[in-house]
Amino acid sequence: MKIGFIGLGNMGGPMAHNLAVAGHDVSGFDTAGVKIDGVTSVDTAQAAVVGADVVITMLPNGAILRAVADQIIPEMKTGAVFVDCSTVDVDSARAVAEQANAAGLGAIDAPVSGGIGGATNGTLTFMAGGGADAFATAAPLLEIMGQKSVHCGESGAGQAAKICNNMILGITMIGTCEAFALADKLGLDRQKMFDVVSTSSGYSWSMNAYCPAPGVGPDSPADNDYKPGFAAELMLKDLRLSQQAAESADAATPLGQAATDLYAQFVENEDGLGMDFSAMLPRFSKLGRG
Ligand code: NAD
Repeated sequence: MKIGFIGLGNMGGPMAHNLAVAGHDVSGFDTAGVKIDGVTSVDTAQAAVVGADVVITMLPNGAILRAVADQIIPEMKTGAVFVDCSTVDVDSARAVAEQANAAGLGAIDAPVSGGIGGATNGTLTFMAGGGADAFATAAPLLEIMGQKSVHCGESGAGQAAKICNNMILGITMIGTCEAFALADKLGLDRQKMFDVVSTSSGYSWSMNAYCPAPGVGPDSPADNDYKPGFAAELMLKDLRLSQQAAESADAATPLGQAATDLYAQFVENEDGLGMDFSAMLPRFSKLGRG
């Protein structure tokens, strides 16, 4: 297929590379002038999309996605499919899909889980929203860039699944970290804590697969001085999107709000910027009740 790829950063770069390695004809554009092995570099977003069967975007936020959509939708060929893999607000995802559909294009939102490692190794999980035909066109490409894709429903459903998942993740990571900090103060050995909780009803991905305590459980960023992994500021971004969505859908999310406030405090007023999101454990360890 002929593919236009816009946004060749930490995630988009390796994703575009994997599509090229699989034999697709990929033209890429990034405002930072990034060049990716196997991908034809072009000078404008418009040049990347002319004649493309599928256009993929991997951009920082909804405002940038909307601006790029305004530039490229008029240039895309009728029947082409616009696949946005960025994590953005549900409203932007729906607005861009509507704009694409009105121009005779297919559109899906297909945010990802799996981080930079997943993008590099082609093992991302995609959660997609949009029409069945557009999803069917994109599916073989998603299979190259990832190991699993779930068609979640209409436009915006992919973003909805992503922010609900990450809201759970933020909340369970905080819960796991504060429980470890409490266990420490109660004199409970961290390994014993892991042995019990990871096989009891308190288990979760945060505990079992990404344990925030160094030297305990499988290898995780905690074993590498809390270098990300999944950075605390990216968790904060996703939690804020969850609260923006909760606000517009009138949903009660008290723990999602508390998690957002804690990550904002950690990233903006403490030393959380550039740390993995599991560094909440040393943060809690330093604190008392007051
Ligand atoms: P990044 O900042 O490394 O990459 C974004 C790229 O977009 C940059 O190279 C930037 O120059 C480019 N860009 C910005 N404006 C542009 C424009 N108008 N036209 C063309 N290019 C433009 O970010 P990333 O880590 O690759 O993340 C991309 C998206 O994926 C974000 O929405 C993020 O939330 C999401 N995501 C990231 C991770 C992760 O672990 N990094 C995991 C899951 C989802």
